[in-house]
Amino acid sequence: MVIKEATNKLKIGWFSFSCCEDSTIVFTEMLNDHFEEWSKVIYFQHVRILRGKNKLQGLDVAFVEGAIASNLEKKKLLEIRKNCKKLVAIGSCACTGGPSAQRNMFPKELEKEIEGLLRKFHQVDKVSKLEDLVRVDAKVPGCPMGEERFLKVLNQMLEEFGVR
Ligand code: SF4
Repeated sequence: MVIKEATNKLKIGWFSFSCCEDSTIVFTEMLNDHFEEWSKVIYFQHVRILRGKNKLQGLDVAFVEGAIASNLEKKKLLEIRKNCKKLVAIGSCACTGGPSAQRNMFPKELEKEIEGLLRKFHQVDKVSKLEDLVRVDAKVPGCPMGEERFLKVLNQMLEEFGVR
């Protein structure tokens, strides 16, 4: 699949943090139906499911899936925020933290049990939704994300950036 850059396209990125990545699967399936139409108006600048070489700087819209469970993820999220004009939270884990954040509600004894694992895998004590750490401009809730809502947000962004 050849993806050409065009200056008048919406430059998007797609990112996944702690989650099961089902919204990425939904997005991939949507590409089957929409790729031809989208490739006329969207430049897939940082989308690892589509390309090997990705560029973070100068994104119009970053779509971010998953919750934030480590300092490294937090650092990457802040970097994405710095490099995009709009950030869209994708799926329930990104919008509300859960279900990825379910360990936040573990009872004390269970917390103690997983303590070693958290340290071993460099996890922070509490998992965060995106909004706890950065400004979120739009949300696509659902577990996985709702297709209709995603299309609505995407079309809004295309209009906002004057691409359509
Ligand atoms: S919101 Fe649901 S589908 Fe999406 S990453 Fe979280 S658990 Fe998976």
